[in-house]
Amino acid sequence: MNADLKRERETGRRNFDVERLTHMLDGGSAEATRRRRQLQAMIERDPTGVFDNSDNMYLHRTERHVRALAKHVRLIELCRKVGIGSEPEANGDVVQSPDFPTLIHALADDLPTALHWVMFVPNIQSLCDEEQQSLLLPLCRDWRMIGCYAQTELGHGSNVRALETTATFLPERKGGMKGGSFVIHSPTITSAKFWPGTLGRTANHAMVIARLIDGDGVDRGIHNFLVPLRSMKDHTLLPGVTTGDIGPKIGYPVMDNGFAMFDKVVIPRRNMAMRFASVDSNGKYEKKAVSDAVSKIAYITMMQVRILECFYKAIVVRVRNELVPPLAKVLVTRELDQWLSLAIHSSFSLMIDHLFSFFGFFLGPRLYLQRSGKESGHCLYHCNPILGDSTPRIRRQWLQQERITDFGLQATTASALSITRCILLFLLYRQEGS
Ligand SMILES: Cc1cc2nc3c(=O)[nH]c(=O)nc-3n(C[C@H](O)[C@H](O)[C@H](O)COP(=O)(O)OP(=O)(O)OC[C@H]3O[C@@H](n4cnc5c(N)ncnc54)[C@H](O)[C@@H]3O)c2cc1C
Repeated sequence: MNADLKRERETGRRNFDVERLTHMLDGGSAEATRRRRQLQAMIERDPTGVFDNSDNMYLHRTERHVRALAKHVRLIELCRKVGIGSEPEANGDVVQSPDFPTLIHALADDLPTALHWVMFVPNIQSLCDEEQQSLLLPLCRDWRMIGCYAQTELGHGSNVRALETTATFLPERKGGMKGGSFVIHSPTITSAKFWPGTLGRTANHAMVIARLIDGDGVDRGIHNFLVPLRSMKDHTLLPGVTTGDIGPKIGYPVMDNGFAMFDKVVIPRRNMAMRFASVDSNGKYEKKAVSDAVSKIAYITMMQVRILECFYKAIVVRVRNELVPPLAKVLVTRELDQWLSLAIHSSFSLMIDHLFSFFGFFLGPRLYLQRSGKESGHCLYHCNPILGDSTPRIRRQWLQQERITDFGLQATTASALSITRCILLFLLYRQEGS
């Protein structure tokens, strides 16, 4: 452990009130801390033992996934038993309860269902119209609909505008459902959805980000479409959907990040998220809001999550550096050290290069004469493997310029400068080290 941190912990020397900081971190009051401890105890003392993490590292990935699903089921069961989710603001939905984040934190493990409440439900809340929300949110609340957010494709991550999955309007008269449909299709291998969490095994629905082709055949860019993946009754895969887990990763073993391809999967027209844009039963497209920012709303779910992740990391770095100034100094010095070594290294390479040019000044005329056929004698370049390395460059300069004096002057100055730079940097490096 860092010596300063260790000393601070051992001597108890600190310039803040630990209890007050604890209340602040828990939400601002002693009551909040009491509640957090109560919820933690509920998880730690659960008689089923399913929340025990002690053998996590010994489990196979599939076992961890199955165990985590069992944790999810037990967590919801416990919450319902003690009335978590019945608060007025939660409206019967466990994940909307103010206690839910504390419980998730207390698990000290990931749940494969996480993307359901982190991305899928927020997506419905922000991009679906009121009628759609009133239909879908109760299904999400009861865990009959478990969803994921499927934006990224094998060939398209950051470049969202290049997404290839299509959602083509299909009118009722041409075989679509009553009121019209969309056909969700993955036209190429690069259009395969790749990475979405909860997709591989857990979800039965995906919010798929796809290019909307309206009734006039016009490409309206990317929009959100709710696509059923697996049966809500028995979890079997639905026709036209190919999906699975992308396999082991360096971290996040519990999460079933997955892939999916769609072979002309037909969905109801109203499965398009229609708060900001809509398509009527004739295939006519209408954008409901005019501001430019609205075009970005189609992928706002992903942006929100990524911004939060960066924000959390920034806070951790800032707080650590603020609380433990000597550690910050160590990091800065270490970085400076690396910069100096890098500078010395590159200066040294330059110096060698310039020295070759310098020697070239003396050897050049001989080479020049030989190359131009005026002398057929033996040349040092050809029998020295190191000098031979720079021969073509120097030879080219000689043959092209033939400005022997200028070149000599240039080579001498550059060599002198780079030697001086190397010496200065080395002295600075030694001074920093001491
Ligand atoms: C653990 C995990 C969970 C994920 N969950 C989901 C999910 O739930 N749903 C989902 O849809 N996706 C998910 N993703 C996908 C993730 O959001 C993408 O990885 C991300 O959008 C980046 O895309 P990419 O991996 O294809 O990288 P690329 O876009 O190919 O980028 C590769 C590198 O190039 C850089 N780069 C890209 N474009 C530019 C540019 N214009 N200028 C300069 N540099 C650039 C990037 O910064 C990066 O370093 C998940 C990924 C991971 C790792």
